[in-house]
Amino acid sequence: MFFERLSALARTLRFRLMLWNALAVIVTGLAILVCVREGVRVTLIRDLDRILEEDLKEISLGFVEEAGIDWGLLTDELDRKARGHEFHGWFVQFYNARGETVWSSDNTPRLSGLGKIVLEPRSLSGYRVVCRRLPVGDSRASSVCVGAQQALISRDLRRIDRLVFTVFIGLLVAAPLGGYLLAGSATRPLAKMIHTTEGLRPAQLAERLEIRGTGDELDALAARINSLLDRIGDYLQQKHDFVANAAHELRTPLAAIRASVEVALSQPRPVCEYQELLAQVIQESSALEVLVNQLLLLAESDADRLKAYADRVALDQVVAAAADMFRGVAESRGLTLSVSAATSVSVAGNRHNLRQVVNNLLDNAIKFTAAHHGQGSRGKVDVLLLRDDYRGIARLTIRDNGPGIPAEHLPHIFDRFYRVDRGRSRGDGVGGSGLGLSICQAIVLAHHGTIEAASEPGQGTTFTVTLPLSQER
Ligand code: ADP
Repeated sequence: MFFERLSALARTLRFRLMLWNALAVIVTGLAILVCVREGVRVTLIRDLDRILEEDLKEISLGFVEEAGIDWGLLTDELDRKARGHEFHGWFVQFYNARGETVWSSDNTPRLSGLGKIVLEPRSLSGYRVVCRRLPVGDSRASSVCVGAQQALISRDLRRIDRLVFTVFIGLLVAAPLGGYLLAGSATRPLAKMIHTTEGLRPAQLAERLEIRGTGDELDALAARINSLLDRIGDYLQQKHDFVANAAHELRTPLAAIRASVEVALSQPRPVCEYQELLAQVIQESSALEVLVNQLLLLAESDADRLKAYADRVALDQVVAAAADMFRGVAESRGLTLSVSAATSVSVAGNRHNLRQVVNNLLDNAIKFTAAHHGQGSRGKVDVLLLRDDYRGIARLTIRDNGPGIPAEHLPHIFDRFYRVDRGRSRGDGVGGSGLGLSICQAIVLAHHGTIEAASEPGQGTTFTVTLPLSQER
């Protein structure tokens, strides 16, 4: 249990941030401490070297005169100096040209390698030694070395080492602690986001993440999540509306069927009445079937399964067949239906679905225009099919001089269940389910085409569909 919690903690962002932060602080701190310690050591040794160089220079001054040096005086003085600087272990040693020691102060330590004249300053068993060749002037000594203990430097360095160690231990404790607190304040907005998103439910998406206004990455993430929530909310609302509208539309024909059957069963009737009632049942069943098929098609389109097959569809023939089918209805309702179609207009797609698009548009044009003009009027519907080889598209235009669509409704007519005149019922032959145009749009989009409507209220409506021409000729 404890280890599980520990490993859970180790996986948190806060813990990892703390770890990296502490590591960075400790490594950087250690590097700085080591550099400072090394810098102090080098400076102290350089200072000592400089002092010893000064001493050498001073001793050399006596050897410049040709007359030679008074050794008795010099060695007395040097011995006195050596005794005076006993605390520092200061000593001096002279060598002849063969490298043999000719004189050394009383306290000169026995150091291996001291007899070797090296002109660079060097360290020998805790002593610092600097040597120099003497200027010509004496036959006894040709070079001299002075040295001093490094004990004071070592003592200072030990103090610095203790300080470095203390600071390092302090860093070891303070860095993770500080890192944990810092990481806590950096990840606090994230924890808040997690808390808020945990509270979200599909049916309750109203809550939004807080935007702190810092403009940092967390604010950007919160904004993205909020906009995603907006879109999910809209999507769920659409789904909800769709189901509610679908249920509402299905209820009407079902209620009509039930009513017809109830009337038929309520009392014995003549055969002709039963036939009439059964005909109504069939009519409503057909309407139900159409509606269910429409809903299925839209569901397929939502699931992105409404794919255009690669059949080669002769659109001119589809248009001609639809015109033939609707001509009788159009004439019976006093409308003129004219068709002008280019030949050999082929598109790649699903013949059945494309036929549905043409039929829906023609059906709408005829039904709304006829209702607008009434019997024996000047209502007309023009169908025009063109092949635009330059752009590689087929363009189908269905124009009527019906009631037109008011500008405020025009942007919504492709929405599901949208009807401009909601007062119309299906029974009067004009009102529909409001699914026709959304189905046309879904099919056309699945064929990589476009569908647009332009309308002048009182003058008529024009629907334009473009579809990519089939590549095969
Ligand atoms: P409906 O089943 O009601 O015909 P549609 O989706 O086919 O549903 O059409 C949506 C709405 O667009 C219709 O209710 C109607 O108001 C308007 N509309 C469509 N076509 C025409 C047209 N040719 N003339 C006038 N209004 C039209």
